[in-house]
Amino acid sequence: MRPIDFIYRFDPERQERKPLPENGAAARRLLEEGNRLFVRWIESCKLDSGPPEQHRYIVHYNAEDLGLPGASGEVVKQAPFAALLGCADARVPAEIIFGQPRNNLFVVRLAGNVLSDECLGSLDFAVNHLGDSIRIVVVLGHTMCGAVAAAVDTYLNPWSYLEETTTHALRSIVDRIFIPVRKAARSLRSSGGIEVDRSLAYRDALVETAVFVNTAQTAYDLRRSLDEIDRGDLQVVYGVYDLSTHRVRSLPQHRPGSDVAEICLADAPASLEEFEALTNLMAFNSLA
Ligand SMILES: [Zn+2]
Repeated sequence: MRPIDFIYRFDPERQERKPLPENGAAARRLLEEGNRLFVRWIESCKLDSGPPEQHRYIVHYNAEDLGLPGASGEVVKQAPFAALLGCADARVPAEIIFGQPRNNLFVVRLAGNVLSDECLGSLDFAVNHLGDSIRIVVVLGHTMCGAVAAAVDTYLNPWSYLEETTTHALRSIVDRIFIPVRKAARSLRSSGGIEVDRSLAYRDALVETAVFVNTAQTAYDLRRSLDEIDRGDLQVVYGVYDLSTHRVRSLPQHRPGSDVAEICLADAPASLEEFEALTNLMAFNSLA
């Protein structure tokens, strides 16, 4: 192992204003490329040689990103290019894993990345009041999510519900994840057979599938909510951050030989039929 450097760099000689991504597709590429670089940086600690740049992760700041006042002293305007809903888990800081400076992401984080009313209100504010800069809406889940695991455990053993979720507030989060868990369980049964739940690996497969289904469901719900406020033109995508590989991907992936190029955010399902097919694919990959 060797040292690696994570650097926020502001160069007063490079004062150019960074252009906003042209559209949702460009914003998505920017996020995916940021995560790709982040993964390479982390993996570079295992390399004994290579150029120094390979062992550095530099996030470039301009004066606006840094929050320096303008020529007449005005405070920099809020101008994120993406609104992101992610889990509150401390291991999943959106700006860092996507390599973004301050003021690029409007981030709402809530355990289990569930879509509560307050959370939807925050995103509603972002797309309506920061609409000049917002190009994309992202839902980000993560593997081994504690909120999803709690929903799975109480689904598998309903008698543990009151022990696992000791307060009404906690239950309000877990309750929102039961439907994705049930969808995941049904798809696992259809992929792995009716005895799939007898396997020792079943609980882990159910947690993993449910993490992806829950994230895609939130994106699906969000897409419909944006339609209701006439912002259906905004691209809504989802992805799951893998705590082991640091990669963001749209499907569970256990096959060996996967590489960095597979990092991706995917479009929110556009219909129930598409969502069901996606859930079956997620279950199939979790069992692979
Ligand atoms: Zn979580």
